[in-house]
Amino acid sequence: MVVLGAGPAGLTTAYLLAQNGRPVTVLEADPIYVGGLARTVSYHGFRFDIGGHRFFSKSENVERLWSEILPNDMLECIRLSRIHFRSELMSYPLRPFEVIERLGVLEFARCILSYWQACVFPSHPAITFEDWAINAFGRRLFEIFFKTYTEKVWGLSCREISADWAAQRIKKMSLADAAFAALRQTPLSRRDTITSLTTSFRYPRLGPGMMWEKCAEKMCAAGGRLLMGRPVQELEYCAQTGRWRIVAQAKNGNSETFDAGTVVSSIPLTDLARMLKPELSWNALQAVQTLRYRDFLSAAVILRERVALQDHWIYVHEPAVRASRIQNYKSWSPALIPEPGLCCLGLEYFCNASDELWHMNDERLLKLALNELTQLGLAQPEDLVDGYVVRQPKAYPVYDLGYSGRVQLVLSELESRFPSLHLVGRNGRHRYNNQDHSMTTAMLSAANILAGERMYNLHKVNEDAEYLEEPVAKYSPCCE
Ligand SMILES: Cc1cc2nc3c(=O)[nH]c(=O)nc-3n(C[C@H](O)[C@H](O)[C@H](O)COP(=O)(O)OP(=O)(O)OC[C@H]3O[C@@H](n4cnc5c(N)ncnc54)[C@H](O)[C@@H]3O)c2cc1C
Repeated sequence: MVVLGAGPAGLTTAYLLAQNGRPVTVLEADPIYVGGLARTVSYHGFRFDIGGHRFFSKSENVERLWSEILPNDMLECIRLSRIHFRSELMSYPLRPFEVIERLGVLEFARCILSYWQACVFPSHPAITFEDWAINAFGRRLFEIFFKTYTEKVWGLSCREISADWAAQRIKKMSLADAAFAALRQTPLSRRDTITSLTTSFRYPRLGPGMMWEKCAEKMCAAGGRLLMGRPVQELEYCAQTGRWRIVAQAKNGNSETFDAGTVVSSIPLTDLARMLKPELSWNALQAVQTLRYRDFLSAAVILRERVALQDHWIYVHEPAVRASRIQNYKSWSPALIPEPGLCCLGLEYFCNASDELWHMNDERLLKLALNELTQLGLAQPEDLVDGYVVRQPKAYPVYDLGYSGRVQLVLSELESRFPSLHLVGRNGRHRYNNQDHSMTTAMLSAANILAGERMYNLHKVNEDAEYLEEPVAKYSPCCE
């Protein structure tokens, strides 16, 4: 059995299969790091995430697996985050009087009126992100809080983004929601209702990569094999033998071929479709070629620490600043910073690999990041010690208009034509998700493989990583 990709989804599948005595080989393109988007990059003893990774799930299976893999190294963190809004830092989740003070009583009254207007005359059906956000919070709040930040993140107009994204991600984290709740004094940050405002989460002492490094180690100890620096290039299915031929580039530049009865893929759907033989139908190929991704840059700036910043992260709403979010790694875990008196702030830039920002050299990017920190009042130029840039292509699957039908078409064709091909994870299923969702698709795939039939339909995993119906056959999932 071959697993493509050693991110959370690939490693979870491989770990569970190896624990159940199945021979499994994982092929990972990266020569150094496991963990994929949830890896932890190391630079001169500093460690940082590709965006801060909270470990939080409503799925008990996922929480239990994290504890099993890393029993002694999970920190309990109390979330602290703020928003840089109109040149000042503001609490998030919001505090009612701070909101009124910042917006002014008149503006706040306008927001309430526009919210009522949206309640009385909603857009129906809500197709775009803009329709959805205006229906939920009113035009005024949408324009103040959502429009700039969302367009900065996606590089698309809010009219080009599907309402699905809002329904999946924003409903539980909206600033407006928080504002209204705060004004009504309702406990919005309750663990079971508002995931994104969760007040506490777990975090591996040495970053999320620690979880996946340990998972890989345990998978190998159980008999699995992990081959790093092996970007898969071809995937051929032979209907007569029912076997797969997988070609990966080896470290010396030559090709290496693997034979397998089952393939689990967590690599981007668009890449998989390109390398697959026999080819997908014309319709499916057309559909997959239009799927898009948002790329991501993180400029980790190492600074002398003047004032200890407590926040885990800060959202940057200012349109004049290109960074969208700033991670403060020392708050996530002091063990990520090897020297006292220093800190490391990761400025996150959402962009496309075709943008000039992506091609800017590291020196210029770090200079931009330092200028923006200075502009926001979070550092002084003379505080700079060092820095490091991470470029992450395909960080976010884009939910543009009509994406959902295209994804369904491709997944359905792949699953019906290739019963021994299992698609798991975030880019593997083109689903904007957290680790827990990726892991749940992986756990259910492992259960399907062990049972020898597709008892679990992976389309039925919701955004909270919950499986929404009974399995079609009786079987205990391997992680219970
Ligand atoms: C900025 C940011 C912040 C996030 N914050 C959180 C958070 O707070 N909490 C949370 O739970 N989740 C968070 N996530 C989401 C989380 O990172 C993903 O859900 C998770 O990493 C997806 O796992 P995966 O295995 O499906 O995919 P990936 O992590 O993308 O792993 C896929 C793997 O496949 C490999 N690969 C790709 N192509 C090939 C090839 N041709 N051959 C071989 N290998 C290949 C890649 O190198 C990679 O290792 C965040 C993501 C981002 C981008």
